[in-house]
Amino acid sequence: MFEQAVQVSEAFRQSAHQMQGSLHMALKGCPECRTTQMIASPSLGTCEGCGSALVVLPRE
Ligand SMILES: [Zn+2]
Repeated sequence: MFEQAVQVSEAFRQSAHQMQGSLHMALKGCPECRTTQMIASPSLGTCEGCGSALVVLPRE
């Protein structure tokens, strides 16, 4: 529980930095459903499918 909170916090910090540093859109995704979507807001939110906390995906 605590580790997940740390990961989400880290992901949030990274995505916020990316959005400030460039116009490149980052992707967020659900580690459970393997779904991805554009990060369109400062908060990652949770998966609509399973409720898991979304994580920032590395850009390819
Ligand atoms: Zn999910």
